[in-house]
Amino acid sequence: CGIVAYVGPREACPLVLKGLKRLEYRGYDSAGVALLNGEGLKVYKKKGKVADLEQELAGKDLHATIGMGHTRWATHGEPNDVNAHPHYSFHRGLAIIHNGIIENYAAIKKSLIKKGREFRSETDSEVLIQFIEDIQENAACSLEEAVRLALQEVVGAYAIVVMSENDPTQLIAARKGSPLVIGVGENEFFFASDATPIIEYTKEVVYLNDYEIAIVRNGALTILTLDNTQTVPYVQTVELELAA
Ligand code: GLU
Repeated sequence: CGIVAYVGPREACPLVLKGLKRLEYRGYDSAGVALLNGEGLKVYKKKGKVADLEQELAGKDLHATIGMGHTRWATHGEPNDVNAHPHYSFHRGLAIIHNGIIENYAAIKKSLIKKGREFRSETDSEVLIQFIEDIQENAACSLEEAVRLALQEVVGAYAIVVMSENDPTQLIAARKGSPLVIGVGENEFFFASDATPIIEYTKEVVYLNDYEIAIVRNGALTILTLDNTQTVPYVQTVELELAA
């Protein structure tokens, strides 16, 4: 339901949590974060409110300059800790947050199970990250190419953000039917379901279009369409006032 992701010099975890609170008005049943700090992927998730997640996080080493968080409104699989996002793959340290519904997830899941893949959750979203990993392993391609190939097979609506423990400068996002805004700061980027988590840091935003993939890597933003054409990001200035 709600997406926030950040890469840049600031501490990612408090920024992501604050952003998730800005999105609480959308309604949700669970919340989670994924963080990278050079020691592998850390994922924490909890049924309940962002405040419950914060209790879970208390006392942990949360240092990270790249991270993402999600508030879930369950559509596939009951609201519980395991079904909460982020979901993560088994082999390559990939993590995903997803808003929306992958309508053909059952067929994709079945074919992945045939290949010996296991699943932790009952969600459609976990199927997508396992599918992306499977494509990356079989095609020996880049992560963005695996995301693109996977989304070509997907029926449904989504806004997603993917990160990988192999590249702590990289966030890959895509959308079809669910909103996704990119905040462009100085050497930093933000992704969110709407601009409210972003505008206290930058007013420069790019509204991602349907069938587009945004890749942030080493401080640069590239946008591709699902059929692999590069487009020029259209940066707009938002004039939104935040309630205190
Ligand atoms: N379909 C996904 C799930 O049930 C995402 C739901 C959402 O948009 O929060 O986990």
